[in-house]
Amino acid sequence: MTELAYLADMPAAYVRSFRARVVALPPGGVVLDRTFFYPTGGGQPAARGTLRYGEATLEVTDVTRSGNAVHHRVRSAGSDVQKFVAGAEVEGTVDWERRHQHMRLHTGQHLLSARAFERSGLRTRKAVLRGLGATIDLEGVLPPAQLDAIAHDMDEVIRAGRPVSIRHVARAEWNDLPSAGRSGLVPLPPHVDPVRVVEVQGEDSCPCGGTHVRSTAEIGEVRLTAPVLASEGGTRIGFTLMRPGATAPPA
Ligand SMILES: [Zn+2]
Repeated sequence: MTELAYLADMPAAYVRSFRARVVALPPGGVVLDRTFFYPTGGGQPAARGTLRYGEATLEVTDVTRSGNAVHHRVRSAGSDVQKFVAGAEVEGTVDWERRHQHMRLHTGQHLLSARAFERSGLRTRKAVLRGLGATIDLEGVLPPAQLDAIAHDMDEVIRAGRPVSIRHVARAEWNDLPSAGRSGLVPLPPHVDPVRVVEVQGEDSCPCGGTHVRSTAEIGEVRLTAPVLASEGGTRIGFTLMRPGATAPPA
């Protein structure tokens, strides 16, 4: 079993290096007792980085969840992978630029979904973060005139530097909150209790297991992309980060 250490609280998303113990070595991979590497899921791509043990360094090329374990898929130039043994304490280093980009995109996606819902009543069916951009598929057709208003809204919230926080809410309590409406299209698995809720102060509350920035200001300037028809119907809208890379120093 791997502890998902990046989930613990807001600062956990900012951890760039950590120590953990090797618990298993499946072919081409390393399983640790805890990790700050984000495994692919919820529309957010996996983290990248390195695992180091003594002089041996492995490049983490992909991270996936398999039951209760997180698999770090690795490669090394020579025979470094053979130096890793079960029980060894290793140092993990997360590629910060990529991580922070995903944190900015994920927080921006929450804002986009929230503002699209507020303006049109349309809920988000699917969200995808890729490269420097994020897209959401809305459950219906967004009137084109609303896009400018949503762009204006996002710009305003980003400039305002609204704090982002995490709180854990009992499942029964979450189901009764009015904010459950905008994310209600994607049902929470029945076992999720308490619910990890990501809150953008005064803007949005959404259950999420991703990584996020602590202030909307860190997202930086974004540009909305022209709406297109989503493959499953409805409208796909998205945005691109205008400043790539990391925009703020780590905690
Ligand atoms: Zn999220």
